This record gives sequence, C-alpha cells and structure tokens, in this order.
Amino acid sequence: MNKRRATSLPQHFFRAQLRSKAFFRAINMEIFDAHCHLESFKELPSLSGMACATSGYSAESNAKNAKIRDMLNSGTEPSKRRVFLSCGIAPQTAQEVGGIRDMLPLWIEQYMAARPDAIGEIGLDWHWGKSAEQKERQLYAFEYQLELAVRKGIPVVIHCRDAVKETLSMLESYGARKFMMHCFTGTHEEAARAAGMGGIISVPPLRNKERKKSVKAVGMGKIVCETDSPYIGKTLNDINVSLQIVSDSLSIPLEEAAAKSYANALQFYSCPD
Ligand SMILES: [Zn+2]
Repeated sequence: MNKRRATSLPQHFFRAQLRSKAFFRAINMEIFDAHCHLESFKELPSLSGMACATSGYSAESNAKNAKIRDMLNSGTEPSKRRVFLSCGIAPQTAQEVGGIRDMLPLWIEQYMAARPDAIGEIGLDWHWGKSAEQKERQLYAFEYQLELAVRKGIPVVIHCRDAVKETLSMLESYGARKFMMHCFTGTHEEAARAAGMGGIISVPPLRNKERKKSVKAVGMGKIVCETDSPYIGKTLNDINVSLQIVSDSLSIPLEEAAAKSYANALQFYSCPD
C-alpha cells in the first residue's frame, strides 16, 4: 500500500488496525518511541523496525539498559541505530537514598561510561516525594545531574509530577535548552512555557483534555510520542495510542504525526547542542 492511499483511508480504518505492527510496515510509517524501559519487560520485546529510547532511573536499570542498547545495536552503523539510551537517577530513586550525596557521583560515573544519548529521567516528583527529606534528596540529585548535562551539552529527559513550575524554573536557571518533558502532565500554559524555553513535550498513551490542549499549544514541531512501557503503556505497540492523540489533537493524518514525531525524537537523541 502506498503512502497516498493510506492517508486517504478513513480514520476508523486506522483505529481498527491500531494494534498491528504489520499495519505500520504496510503503510511505511517510521515509529519512534521516545521513552520506554526495555529492561523492565519480562521478555525483551521485538522492535519490529521501530526506533526507541530506553531509559534508566537507577544505577541498576541504567546498567541493564546500556547492555540492551549495545546488544540491539550491534552490527548496525551508528547512523542507522534503532535504540537510543537515556541514563539517570530519577527523583523516586534519589528520595529513598540516605547517602545520596555519596552515591550519586559514583552512579553518574558508571552511567556516563556507557555514553548515553541523554541524561534522564531526572527531575522532581512531589507526588511520591512528600517529606522535606525526600524533596531535599530529589532536588540534590536533579540539580547535580542537570548541571552536568548542561555543562556537557547532553539532552535532558525530565520526569516531573506535581512540580512542573519548580522543574521549569530549575531548567531555566541552569540554562537548559535541550530537554524533553517525558509523559508531560502539566497544563497547556506550562507546555507552552516549556516549548518557549526550547523544550519538547512527550505524549504518553493516555488521553485527557488538557493533554490535547497542550499538544495544540506547542504544535507538531515540539512533540514526540512515547509509551513509557511497560509502566504506562503495556507494550511498545501502545505508541499507536500516543500517535492517535497527536493526530486527533492537531487534525493531521496519523502518518504525519508519526513522521514528524519520529524526526523530532531522532533530532533530540542524536545531535548534541
Ligand atoms: Zn519512564
């Protein structure tokens, strides 16, 4: 099936076929899952031609993802690789570590040795971090890693929950320009602020009205799609739902949402500042 015929098919056709990878191949769509956790699957899923960025959140998950990235990319020219790596110590991890100030430099040294394409997920999570102590550990880990990423010109993948304002202010104060708001849950005004600062918004497979407004507020140039699987999406195929949200929000064909979010994700993960 050629491209032109596919885009002229009615929307219900796309919906009916949404869970089929064969469908993507049939209409030649390039798919990029901008944030998932390959190491967290019970069985490593097949990429079936998709590209993805697998993300760590702890020392252990960073190491596992680095191995998976190496394995899946082996024998592939660097310019044709399908698996990108993001490494970081997430706020939910940092908040539980009493000795975070001692451990963090060691964990960073370990993950930087794997040459990640991005640092993350890092950020602030006031949903899980409630006590002053937890927040203080989160802030320490976020600032430390953010400073490193900005200094080295490495893109940043942000995890942020119930703390969008604080997180954006922090990014601003460190002069971060290349960042992705993974599973963005803020308001459309906050989405516009992030985009104005140079950031991109990542759309998870969860529909809600504010997300639709956020997509509209920033436009296709600032959007990537993710599954966050196996946590939010259960499989990599759930990227279809994220793409459909973008396609619906902007009234553009699914293929266009796929192609542009692919290009945005590729640019984000493959070119240093
Ligand atoms: Zn995640």
